[in-house]
Amino acid sequence: MLDDGIELARLVPTGELDELVGAIARALGGELAIFDLGGVRLAGSVSAAAPRRVLAHDGVPLAHIAATGPAADASLTLCAEALDLLVHHAHARELAAATHEEAMRLTFAELTEHNARLQRAVARLEELDRLKSNFLATMSHELRTPLTSVIGYAEMMAEGLAGPISSEQRDYLTTILGKADQLLGLITAVLDVSSLESGQLALERATLSLNDLVASELATFAPAAGRRGISIQLEACGDAIVVGDRRKIRQVVSSLVSNAVKFTPDRGKVGVALRRGPLAAHGPGSGDDATPAIQLVVTDSGIGISRDLVAKIFEPFFQVDSSSTRAFGGTGLGLTLAKAYVEAHGGQIWVDTAPGQGSTFTATFPLPPAVPAAAAEGSGAHGAPA
Ligand code: ADP
Repeated sequence: MLDDGIELARLVPTGELDELVGAIARALGGELAIFDLGGVRLAGSVSAAAPRRVLAHDGVPLAHIAATGPAADASLTLCAEALDLLVHHAHARELAAATHEEAMRLTFAELTEHNARLQRAVARLEELDRLKSNFLATMSHELRTPLTSVIGYAEMMAEGLAGPISSEQRDYLTTILGKADQLLGLITAVLDVSSLESGQLALERATLSLNDLVASELATFAPAAGRRGISIQLEACGDAIVVGDRRKIRQVVSSLVSNAVKFTPDRGKVGVALRRGPLAAHGPGSGDDATPAIQLVVTDSGIGISRDLVAKIFEPFFQVDSSSTRAFGGTGLGLTLAKAYVEAHGGQIWVDTAPGQGSTFTATFPLPPAVPAAAAEGSGAHGAPA
């Protein structure tokens, strides 16, 4: 809207003005034309001599109109009313558009502010997470040093280096050493998780026989499993050579086997097999899935895991049921570390399980380049990748 009048051409499209003028001329005969306030003809035609009438909308000048013919007055009245209506609608449309635009502008401003708040919160959380990882790493390190001394002195006493000890004292020392070892394992796991979180996972690389490594690790579980009547069967593989970090692969084996034993009822069965098979869960078929690898398959006849919790068990500190932890111990870190270590070696880890049906965990390790892949066989394990 201009100060000195309404700009009709801007508000009402010329096509609509043409239609209006045409309809009135057809209905009433004669000529009719609409001009803007500057005298420019916007629609219709009329002889130059025809008198022009000024139209206003809400008291503000809007246009000039002129008509000739027997019904000139009626044409002008009709045209004036119709234009009033058109301008009224056009104003309503403009107002709605302006309101909408303002609402959008406000929403955008709110979103921008919201976004900035979220970014600040994320930055703060990242900072807290970094501080937490640093704290865990420092604390674990500081706890390990005195604990190593406790273990060392207890071992020396158990060996009689500080003088003869009674059988009761030996029992106490055995308990001290067992609990100190457990604590050391926990501290080492926390330290490993914090080094994972800070992206400092470093691998040593040596050529290893998984047959030997798994067999020696299983020997450490045999006494405890035997006391509960759980048998552990090992199915070795002809040629299970991989290149990797001995301590970390040993830890993968230890986590999977200790869970299998822990979550299997007395007199149950645990099977550990090494075999050639695909690197990924879905077996041969496409791309990398078919890459031949060594599979470490740990099967138990234990309590199993429900489908909706399967993805969570690989998250740090997650335990399906904390009451079993109170009974058997555990940190909820074993599978997190196992997954990270397996993946750092280029392998994958997944589980096939159902409640009450036992579980089969499969961890894969790529074959070293020098080992021919031609002998690879399928393993039949088809679970969801972790
Ligand atoms: P934890 O130290 O508690 O064993 P893990 O990270 O190794 O921690 O395992 C996480 C959780 O996954 C366990 O607490 C348990 O609830 C579940 N889980 C792992 N292995 C098995 C299994 N073989 N059978 C049943 N549940 C299992």
